[in-house]
This record gives sequence, C-alpha cells and structure tokens, in this order.
Amino acid sequence: MNRFVVDAMLGRLATWLRLVGCDTYYSPKTDDDDLLRIARDDSRVLLTADEELSRRAADDGTECMLVRGTVDERVASVFMRFGIEAVADPALSRCTKCNGALVHIFADEKDRIKGLVFDQTFNHYDEFWLCEYCSSVFFRGGQWKNIEKYMARIADLMT
Ligand SMILES: [Zn+2]
Repeated sequence: MNRFVVDAMLGRLATWLRLVGCDTYYSPKTDDDDLLRIARDDSRVLLTADEELSRRAADDGTECMLVRGTVDERVASVFMRFGIEAVADPALSRCTKCNGALVHIFADEKDRIKGLVFDQTFNHYDEFWLCEYCSSVFFRGGQWKNIEKYMARIADLMT
C-alpha cells in the first residue's frame, strides 16, 4: 500500500486517508523543502494542490500527484489513482490526529482507556481503538455513521 505525505492545504484529505488505513504524514507546519525531503527519504508519494511544488517534485524524480477540485473530488481522485477502497473500518484505520497505529481494546481490557473518554462513552461501548502515541480513543459512535455515509458518497464519485 502506498504511503503518503500531504501538503498543508490538504488536511482533510490527510484525515480521510488515515481513516481508510493509509500511512499519511501531515503537519500544517511542514514547508515545501521538508515535504520533498520526507517524500524522498521515506518513500512516500507527495500529494499537493500546489503546481509549483508538483513541478519541483517531478524535477526531483519524486512521485507526486497534483490534487485538484473540491475536497470530495480530491479524496475520490486520490483513492482512484492509488486503488484505495472507499471503506472505513476502525480496525484498519490509523489515528486521524497523529497517524499512529491503533490498538484494539476489547471489553475485558477497557480499563486501559478509562479517563481518556467521557464516562458515558466508557460505559456505553465495549470496543475501542487506542492510539498509543497521542492517547486518542476511537469507537463506533454516532460520528461513525457520518464516516460511512461520506465513504458511500466518495464511492459514488469513483464510479
Ligand atoms: Zn494519535
């Protein structure tokens, strides 16, 4: 599976790539030189909305895609180009905040995430995913329905 580095203008694209499980470097503070260096040193495909940066990548021999259009069109075009399925599964996702790998937490070990989520959430769900880097916790809550709806919309755009 391709790994990516995403420019500062494409934060929402980075979030969606992480949700579907793609290892995606994104930091809004990274400048163009660093983006090119990370792509080269770490064998990542550079995704950018900046024509000049994509030209520099091409001159460098760095794999790059110039991403255009609305957020939805950007997500759909990147998924199509790299053969990514528009299906989000928390068991495959990476942390949307920091790109860390997630650890599956089952009911019998859920004390590990006590205090990291609201008590109500803790009591209501029995399955969580914990990012060991930044301690963010994910679960199939109400927001997961929206994620599934959005993925269906992207799948439509891809046909
Ligand atoms: Zn994280």
